[in-house]
Amino acid sequence: MKIAVVGAGAAGLFVAGFLAEKGNEVVIFDKNEKAGKKLYITGKGRCNLTNLCPPDEFLKNVLRGEKFLRSAIYNFTSQDTVNYFQSLGLKTKLERGNRVFPESDKSSDVIKILQKVHCKNVKFCFETKVLSVTKEDEQFCVKTENKKQYFDRIVVATGGKSYCSTGSDGDGYTIAKNFGHEIVPLVPALCPIKLKDKFVKDLQGVSLKNVQLSATADGKKYSFFGEMLFTQDGISGPIVLTLSSFVNRCKKVELWLDFKPALTEKQLDARLLRDFEVAKNKDVLFVLRGLLPKSVAEVFERKLNLADRKVNSITKADRLRIIENLKHFPLAYDRLYDIDAGIVTSGGVDISQINPKTFESKLQKGLYFVGEVLDVDALTGGFNLQIAWATAFMCAKSME
Ligand SMILES: Cc1cc2nc3c(=O)[nH]c(=O)nc-3n(C[C@H](O)[C@H](O)[C@H](O)COP(=O)(O)OP(=O)(O)OC[C@H]3O[C@@H](n4cnc5c(N)ncnc54)[C@H](O)[C@@H]3O)c2cc1C
Repeated sequence: MKIAVVGAGAAGLFVAGFLAEKGNEVVIFDKNEKAGKKLYITGKGRCNLTNLCPPDEFLKNVLRGEKFLRSAIYNFTSQDTVNYFQSLGLKTKLERGNRVFPESDKSSDVIKILQKVHCKNVKFCFETKVLSVTKEDEQFCVKTENKKQYFDRIVVATGGKSYCSTGSDGDGYTIAKNFGHEIVPLVPALCPIKLKDKFVKDLQGVSLKNVQLSATADGKKYSFFGEMLFTQDGISGPIVLTLSSFVNRCKKVELWLDFKPALTEKQLDARLLRDFEVAKNKDVLFVLRGLLPKSVAEVFERKLNLADRKVNSITKADRLRIIENLKHFPLAYDRLYDIDAGIVTSGGVDISQINPKTFESKLQKGLYFVGEVLDVDALTGGFNLQIAWATAFMCAKSME
């Protein structure tokens, strides 16, 4: 069979290699000058290949498409991913939280092995944007800038719509729509959050460890413990990205920060009383600096109207206000950053119109969708790439 794969990203490379191995004539198109531009920047250039937790735990990290992906995640597990990459010659290592990386810490090694070893029998067409895919009699016509080519099957692996400089800018949705597919509205996921607070610009670049970020969003409460940082006009970092994926379709979001999640209000009060006692004649800022990073302490002091106040002038009401704000510091949620800033795209090709075992369109025989172009997304930790590998493997396996 002659098969076209649109997109030489994670899912496209994976599916193309398996299809070629089966003796098919496989052509992979990518608008970029090389393969795996997004793969290259994954895991800060180290590529968190997959996550070795058991499949049922894996699926708890999938926010959209959990049921739909069940079969693929159980049939091509993260252990299968590791075994397969090792069989190709890639050495891997396991890090905190079951995360798997190439031993070399180089995403370029993953790309090289996929392209040169796994896809050794695949024909690559770079700098070739697929403009349209149509059905003509029994075949699919792939139109690129200067020619039309005909194929028996098409696999769309065009990715989402974020980090569009990597090539994934949403073309796959147009191809899907032309075959009657519904596109679930796109929103960013794993994305920084914009705040309305003016003080944020004074904190740009400041990172906070061991804090708890909480939100109520359309009536539900979320809390995440860990690390975050301030950007020019908002917040980012691991717990912010995670939270964003839960609130990205919510209308009313309220955010607050617990600077001292390990201490109860009572413990914090005792700590403050102790600190105040030894610094009676100093500025309040002196004590706040013992509890918060310098620039955060300054913002905190301003926000609570405590500037230039001496510790010995602090009333019980002031102290309780300090405690309340250390445990429940409000952040004025504005919105998520634009879709391009999301690590992944939430939304995409409606999965109710896709066969979850083969990834073939239920509307058009011979047309397949794999990877992030589908309405699936997961948290950080190697889950999104595993979705790309598993959907691509199952798709290739199903094609006889
Ligand atoms: C900064 C960053 C870090 C990340 N880190 C991790 C990580 O460590 N672990 C993890 O699991 N996930 C990570 N992800 C998510 C992961 O990279 C994606 O989920 C994954 O790459 C999706 O694979 P894909 O093959 O579906 O799409 P992509 O990798 O986006 O590939 C799509 C390809 O299709 C091509 N294409 C699109 N339209 C056309 C067209 N019309 N014609 C020709 N070619 C076209 C594009 O050029 C692109 O090469 C990260 C994402 C980002 C942005």
